[in-house]
Amino acid sequence: MENRRVAVIGGGLGALSGAIRLAQFGFSVQLFEKNPKIGGKVNEVMLDGYRFDTGASLLTMPFVIDELFDVAGFKRSDYLDFVPIDPICRYFFPDGSVMDASADQEKMKTAIAQLSPSDVEGYERFLKYAERIHELTAEIFMFTPIHEFRKLMRPRYLRTLFRLHHIDPFRTVHERVSRFFSDPRLVQLFDRYATYNGSDPFQAPATLNIIPYVEYGLGGFYIKGGIYRLVDALETVARERGVQIQTSAKVERICHHRNRRVTGVQVNGETIDADYVLCGADAVVAYHKLIDGHQHQRKKLNRLEPSLSGMVFLWGVKGKHPALAHHNIVFSGDYRTEFRQIFEHQQVPDDPTIYIAITSKTDTAHAPTGAENWFVLLNMPYLVPGQVWEQEKNRIRRVVLDKLKRLGFDIADRIAVERVYTPEDFSELYASNKGSIYGVSSNSKTTAFKRLPNRSRLLKGLYFAGGSVHPGGGIPLVMLSGKMAATLIAEDRASRNFYSKAEK
Ligand SMILES: Cc1cc2nc3c(=O)[nH]c(=O)nc-3n(C[C@H](O)[C@H](O)[C@H](O)COP(=O)(O)OP(=O)(O)OC[C@H]3O[C@@H](n4cnc5c(N)ncnc54)[C@H](O)[C@@H]3O)c2cc1C
Repeated sequence: MENRRVAVIGGGLGALSGAIRLAQFGFSVQLFEKNPKIGGKVNEVMLDGYRFDTGASLLTMPFVIDELFDVAGFKRSDYLDFVPIDPICRYFFPDGSVMDASADQEKMKTAIAQLSPSDVEGYERFLKYAERIHELTAEIFMFTPIHEFRKLMRPRYLRTLFRLHHIDPFRTVHERVSRFFSDPRLVQLFDRYATYNGSDPFQAPATLNIIPYVEYGLGGFYIKGGIYRLVDALETVARERGVQIQTSAKVERICHHRNRRVTGVQVNGETIDADYVLCGADAVVAYHKLIDGHQHQRKKLNRLEPSLSGMVFLWGVKGKHPALAHHNIVFSGDYRTEFRQIFEHQQVPDDPTIYIAITSKTDTAHAPTGAENWFVLLNMPYLVPGQVWEQEKNRIRRVVLDKLKRLGFDIADRIAVERVYTPEDFSELYASNKGSIYGVSSNSKTTAFKRLPNRSRLLKGLYFAGGSVHPGGGIPLVMLSGKMAATLIAEDRASRNFYSKAEK
């Protein structure tokens, strides 16, 4: 069979999803991951009896995973148990008030009424508005490779493109949210969703208000046993389907002919021949480090603004904290200043918003008896020269612990185990562009189109999946990017084989 060898770079969820589909289409697939374990930003760590997910903690759009299992001929429920999380998140506001957000609409309205009765009606209108954006954009922006001109030529897509103003790209997330809610706490809560793809609510287009609909309209989930179980399950499916997975295998180069068609990859000094390369590593980094030449393209890519980075503290904490839920947010006192410091000045925010996920609330085995596993995430700027993360680490740790103490969680002397990840670690561990955790930010009206396509324009046979390319970061979206890339490869192969037969 011709044109059936694919080399896949990276074991992140985008690449893994693409690899499974390609194997199912009949390709011979070899996947190379530089780290000892696959999963990329979805990963897991054990420290002295405490278990932690090190990256993603909330799952949305689980139907994307179901569909992949179906396509591969497996039943997802045999492998993974999706647990709806209620409350989805407990919010601690700067004035001391607390609110439980829920995908159960009655509970959510009651919680809003307790905070600000006059905003209940605004919430109902907001959710309808967000649902409308979802209706108009999901198919075209989330499920279609929008850089493929021929795929956009469907009448219903063209209708959406001509009605772009309905998807609200000309205001920012914050401007639009402020029109629905009068209470600043609710504005802060709904502004937060821009960070789900690593963006700034004061710059990102209001189209991103689709995200609260995805969470409140469709639900937020945890995976029993930890989010990393998803990687385990996909690895099983991939191997069953014949994908060859090699870990501790760093791809050093994407090889190509003078005619600009890829010929394979170089891994640990060895050349692996391939008809196609599916790159699940960050595309900006790949163009800089894995592909020779193309200076002009690199300059263009340097102009794409990376998404937020982050700082993570994994803390095994002695004692139980019933006042905390599975997911918690302790907001900063001034969101605008926080994001200005992060995106305009590339500084560590003075007063960071603190996210705490505690899976032992749901999976008690994740921490020893009488203890909890805290995953603490702060929004941080992407890497720029001059930052000194090694020194900042201890200062930020102090800021976080002091803030938590003021809230009644005095844990400084009860941290039994600890691990810290800085933006430098994200860059090093996952080869992400400047330590970004969601690829490219959506801080401009046109990012959806500027984000890199799933098919390379420079090298024939090179395709991309993952958070740095269309449709963007987050578990479901990177898995959809894998689907798009795999489908494009299959289509290319069908047309190449058709033409080569016709020539014979
Ligand atoms: C702290 C944190 C919290 C998050 N929270 C959430 C959340 O709650 N919900 C959600 O949906 N998403 C969340 N995300 C985002 C989500 O995890 C990512 O968008 C997604 O996992 C990225 O997948 P990817 O396909 O882009 O691959 P990545 O995860 O970026 O993996 C790329 C892989 O490629 C490998 N690689 C790179 N270069 C090479 C090379 N040259 N050779 C071989 N291998 C290479 C890397 O080692 C890595 O394993 C979070 C991310 C982080 C970091």
